[in-house]
Amino acid sequence: MTTAPVPPGAARFLRPRGHVIDGRVVPPIGGDTLPVEDPSTGEIFSHIPAGDAGDVAHAVQAARASFNAGTWSRADPAHRGRVLWALARSIRDQAEALAWLETRDSGKPIAEARADITGTAEILEYYAGLASQIFGQTTRVPGNNLGMVLREPAGVVGQITPWNFPLYVGAWKFAPALCCGCSVVLKPSELTSLTLLAAAELALAAGVPPGVFNVVSGTGASAGAALASHPDVDILAFTGGVVTGRKVLHARADLLRPTQLELGGKSPNIIFADADRVQAIAGAAFGIFYNQGENCNAGSRLLVHADIHDEVVAGLIARARAIRVLPPLDEQSQMGALVSAAHARKVAGHVEAAIAEGASLRCGGPAPRQGHFERGHWFLPTVLTDVAPTHRAFHEEIFGPVITVTKFSSDDEAIELANATEFGLAAGVWTADVKRALRCTQELRSGYVWINNYNPTPVEVPFGGVKSSGFGRDCGPQAVDTYTTWKTVLWSLAPFEDWYKH
Ligand code: NAD
Repeated sequence: MTTAPVPPGAARFLRPRGHVIDGRVVPPIGGDTLPVEDPSTGEIFSHIPAGDAGDVAHAVQAARASFNAGTWSRADPAHRGRVLWALARSIRDQAEALAWLETRDSGKPIAEARADITGTAEILEYYAGLASQIFGQTTRVPGNNLGMVLREPAGVVGQITPWNFPLYVGAWKFAPALCCGCSVVLKPSELTSLTLLAAAELALAAGVPPGVFNVVSGTGASAGAALASHPDVDILAFTGGVVTGRKVLHARADLLRPTQLELGGKSPNIIFADADRVQAIAGAAFGIFYNQGENCNAGSRLLVHADIHDEVVAGLIARARAIRVLPPLDEQSQMGALVSAAHARKVAGHVEAAIAEGASLRCGGPAPRQGHFERGHWFLPTVLTDVAPTHRAFHEEIFGPVITVTKFSSDDEAIELANATEFGLAAGVWTADVKRALRCTQELRSGYVWINNYNPTPVEVPFGGVKSSGFGRDCGPQAVDTYTTWKTVLWSLAPFEDWYKH
């Protein structure tokens, strides 16, 4: 085993001394901390500040003050772009340290953590370029008026993020918000806060002014709920599960303030009989097993034409068995550990329930407690066949390395099965037939459709869902819609006409 060594820069961010608020590292007001566990061994290797409503109030106040001061909100957009570019550069310089921290914190393989960090730099570079490309509109309107419609930064933005792609999904939120000139208070998942606390420090060094990018760690019930219900947060952007999303939306409804939600999924991956089988099987495996299946857009429901079902299942099982489930810092690792004991129990419970309902376990399940599986939270790549649309496993997000396989016999049936879910985040289609592919893009009810591909989410195009998968979009120019408001200015070019003159 070749274990990735501890990179020189990692020690600086390994044991955070506090939140990052108003340009400083600030110990939590209550003085409490939360343990940080390595999911692959169960070892507690660090602690993070346990923020509460007081810490959140401090951060929101700092964000408001910085927003009002205009050091960032009214800065030249080109300047904001240069600073975001410098932050991207710094993240690239620190890439190995950040990837190492991400792997220890989340349990994902080091190779996948490196891809997250590169992706984070790409997100920042994209929004660095976009900063000078946010345009308003002008139009002549009746009465010889000039209508100017300005896009303005939305104000103080609260952001709450999950543990599966900590820095990468965090950057989906904070990069466009900073690009637009907002001031941010971000609450990372309590399970994986290290890289976002590090990013806030790197942002300061890159030139983001104090108070503009604050990160407060802590539990959802404490820091998260306080942020969601804070009356001075203009926009709240949330990524996480549906149950939490609903709570956040309730809190925001009471305040009558806008909210963006990126929630869960139960995404179909459809293999038609005319598909290139080798590629489709590889895509099905990658679609579910990447990041241990802890992926909001995981292709967790494989729908396969009956004529090729057995061949696809055999290929998928061979692939699943070949995946190297190894300690995540091992350079050879292709799948790491699940994020927590509670999550591993939940995934195991879903698989047991599926078997009880009639599904066949073809490979995988909880890893035997031996060797490097002895400690930590391990689950093997799992294939369940004979899964019917009535089964819970067909509907509920498992969020682990578990794929369900269901047969179909016609295009109509495939589309009906694909859409038979409360979610609508993503879908995959494998076919050689252009018309069939186009029909799917039109009829699948989801925010993202991959044709002969699965998983890539380049920052240039928007990401988000329909139905219970949420609303609003991360990525692309569309994210600017979340973090700006329109202001209309009507400028008269004619003498004022007195309504009461007669
Ligand atoms: P989660 O809903 O448990 O937690 C998400 C965040 O919300 C965390 O920071 C948590 O601390 C916080 N939180 C918890 N309770 C809260 C409360 N009452 N008020 C405010 N904040 C609270 O989700 P998770 O387990 O961290 O992540 C997994 C979920 O995230 C999955 O459902 C997955 O599909 C979803 N996800 C979606 C996307 C997407 O872009 N659509 C991306 C990644 C993950």
